[in-house]
Amino acid sequence: MICEMCGKTVPQTREVIVGGARLNVCLNCAKFGEATGASASRPGAPVTQAVIDQRLERRERRMQSKDIYVGTTTIEIVEDYGGVIRRAREAKGMDLKTFANEIQEKQGLLAKVEANNQVPDDKLIKKIEKALDIKLTEAVQSGGTMGGGRSDGMTLGNFIKRE
Ligand SMILES: [Zn+2]
Repeated sequence: MICEMCGKTVPQTREVIVGGARLNVCLNCAKFGEATGASASRPGAPVTQAVIDQRLERRERRMQSKDIYVGTTTIEIVEDYGGVIRRAREAKGMDLKTFANEIQEKQGLLAKVEANNQVPDDKLIKKIEKALDIKLTEAVQSGGTMGGGRSDGMTLGNFIKRE
């Protein structure tokens, strides 16, 4: 049989579509076309767009997770924010009502916050921090060292391999 693409005589050809035309080609040339499924070739074997998409997606995901582990710093509210607020307020000799009036917030809301039942929004955090001269947030390093002692590239490499 003769490959219609490269002209070689080969023991076996496959029917593929190249540029919209059906050609009987050798196995070497078959990879340049799309299988029609009509020939002896394995159906579904060619690299389809779906496979390529999948590969790209996988690579993209890997790059995204890498970004996460590069050690971004996020600002988070301290765990016992309510306690911090209450202690600071009491240290200033204010009861909840006085404090609520001072920062012009609802007493009920502040009570919830002090009970750690309501996370204050950014605006309220700033207000409380200023009024009581305290710090309610902390910088949290994500993707930091694991198990301690190790830092930098080693940790990053381990994350990628584990994926
Ligand atoms: Zn050929």
